[in-house]
Amino acid sequence: MIPHAKSVGFEKGYVKSLKCRECGREYPPTKIYACEHCFAPLEVIYDFDSLNLNKDLIKNREKTLWRYRELLPINDYEKIVDIGAGFTPLKECKRLAEALNLRRIYVKNDTVNPTGSFKDRPASVAVSKALELGFKAVGCASTGNLAAATAAHAAKAGLPCYVFIPSDTEKGKVLQAAAYGAKIISVKGTYDDANRLAAQASDECEWALVNINIRPYYVEGSKTIAFEVCEQIGWRPPENIVVPMGSGALLCAVWRALKQFDEIGLINGTGTKLIGAQPEGCSPIAKAFKSKSEEVFPVEKPKTVAKSLAIGDPGDGIYALRAIRESEGFAEYATDEEIVEGMKLLAKTEGIFAEPAGGVSIAVLKKLVEQGEISRDEEVVCLVTGSGFKSLEVFSSYASSVIEIPPDSTRLKDAISG
Ligand SMILES: *Cc1c(COP(=O)(O)O)cnc(C)c1O
Ligand SMILES: [Zn+2]
Repeated sequence: MIPHAKSVGFEKGYVKSLKCRECGREYPPTKIYACEHCFAPLEVIYDFDSLNLNKDLIKNREKTLWRYRELLPINDYEKIVDIGAGFTPLKECKRLAEALNLRRIYVKNDTVNPTGSFKDRPASVAVSKALELGFKAVGCASTGNLAAATAAHAAKAGLPCYVFIPSDTEKGKVLQAAAYGAKIISVKGTYDDANRLAAQASDECEWALVNINIRPYYVEGSKTIAFEVCEQIGWRPPENIVVPMGSGALLCAVWRALKQFDEIGLINGTGTKLIGAQPEGCSPIAKAFKSKSEEVFPVEKPKTVAKSLAIGDPGDGIYALRAIRESEGFAEYATDEEIVEGMKLLAKTEGIFAEPAGGVSIAVLKKLVEQGEISRDEEVVCLVTGSGFKSLEVFSSYASSVIEIPPDSTRLKDAISG
């Protein structure tokens, strides 16, 4: 499968094939992204038989997601585009735990990634793979964060970048992507509309649209968030992990990561309950879970403060649903009000400033504890996936808590006692 494994610039990769997630047909790992027979998505299959990876080796490596490079779908390590994504802090959060009446919560703080969200993980892998496959331009369809992450990695790689976003995307995210030099196509419609147009463009141009025509490779990057969690709590799977869901790809990647770490012996068993979290205004996966449905019904017009999760027709929806059930976990949704409360609680108790998707994780956790689905003694890891700086408009209510005074002492006393 890896004919060039020993030639210059190529180290040994472990990708065996791309496999259809429905019918199981296998394909050589090239530019193909959908099954030729049933059009279902493909996933990367590895052959780890000859892999020699251990904890000590990983411990001494770079503090980025590339410390797990053998478990990522890259053969040519010289093409790796690394702007420092990954190996973010996992902190025990005692004040948050107290507020939620839990004994132990860890927050995985992915707000500190180079472009401010966990999307730097899949973008780093996808842009590296695009270079390896010989693409001359990259791009994506995005609810905002992926646009910035792809644009930043494209800048580092010296590739042009085209991003498709819905026109109601938060301004901070759009301007950030533009600053990295991306060409931005703002579609007056939903994310699904933007995604459809991007797919059309990728057919017409020779672009690697990271979450469309190289999606099987792209989604692999997100596994690293779960690899890190296991490593950071002492090479074991956590009891529960709360994952915000848009397309459901992150949750599926977390599940694959646990299985792969178990397969190669870096952890023992996968015994983690996956907890999928969505905003009520766009909660097709959580609603399917709660109604015991085997199908995920698309939401036509998502309406939520958590714009990064506003994907009405989630590409990985049924796979996320299956993974949650297989893990004996839960899915739940939270209202916009609960989401904003979740963001504020996280900021005020732990000093972590998150965008609404982070508030979704906290709000759903709070709900499940109150409903008795998670008991006080269980350990919970909460993924906080994006920075509050990306959606400042949500915090506008705090403007009134700013006290303005003249540059002398006349009003000082009032101001500090107020
Ligand atoms: C994209 C995104 C997610 C979840 O993404 P999936 O589409 O489910 O993989 C979660 N949080 C943030 C901040 C995101 O940008
Ligand atoms: Zn198939």
